[in-house]
Amino acid sequence: MKLEHMRNAIQRSSNLVCLMGRRVSLDTGCDFYGGDDFAYDVEMKYGYSPEEIFTSAFYNTRPEKFYEYYKSEILGKRGEPNECHKTLAKLEQAGKLKAVITRGIFNLASRGGCKNVICLHGNIYENQCPRCKTEYSVDYILNAKGVPICEKCGAIVRPQICLSGEMLDNMKLTQASRKIGEADTLLVLGVSLKSDLCDSTLKYFHGDTIILINDKPHFSDHNADYYINDQPKEVLPKLFP
Ligand SMILES: [Zn+2]
Repeated sequence: MKLEHMRNAIQRSSNLVCLMGRRVSLDTGCDFYGGDDFAYDVEMKYGYSPEEIFTSAFYNTRPEKFYEYYKSEILGKRGEPNECHKTLAKLEQAGKLKAVITRGIFNLASRGGCKNVICLHGNIYENQCPRCKTEYSVDYILNAKGVPICEKCGAIVRPQICLSGEMLDNMKLTQASRKIGEADTLLVLGVSLKSDLCDSTLKYFHGDTIILINDKPHFSDHNADYYINDQPKEVLPKLFP
């Protein structure tokens, strides 16, 4: 019954925007900050917790250590898009989905075929020299011995991602708020309505329907018009086969 309502809501919508959270990607292989075991393993291996390493202060003071971690734990575990990302691409091709907005840095929606993706925290595929602005590929970072150095000017090349302690890119936030403001229906996937992602974006929504699919139940779920506590990769393909 719920599925039926959700399916109808998607059918009715002509301007759907997706807020995509971390739990969409749980099984994709990029289990970033994933669970206590992961944090423990990282601390044993690198001497710091993942949260400590992923800060601008750490990056600026210990770039060698940062890149050791980053190359192996982030770039080495990029994962693959799943059925949820692929269904979003179909919704986009059908002209319904106008944007995917995420804090994820792995570019999974784009790699799954979506074209209009706003990565609020940037993504690992964009790397730049902070001094001369030359751009570099992920492979350049991966193949560098130790810290990746700009071929032109010798500065340390940086992934264009937002580390803890850094400001979000204002332009991306403006783009996202505009897309959400135009939407008639919001599809909230793999994240609760009380998450940072929703906190910073829901206020721009003036449409009529919020659909939530998240495997982890939260007390705020009933604030959505329709919700299902299951994995988005299981549910979304049933809504738009
Ligand atoms: Zn440079």
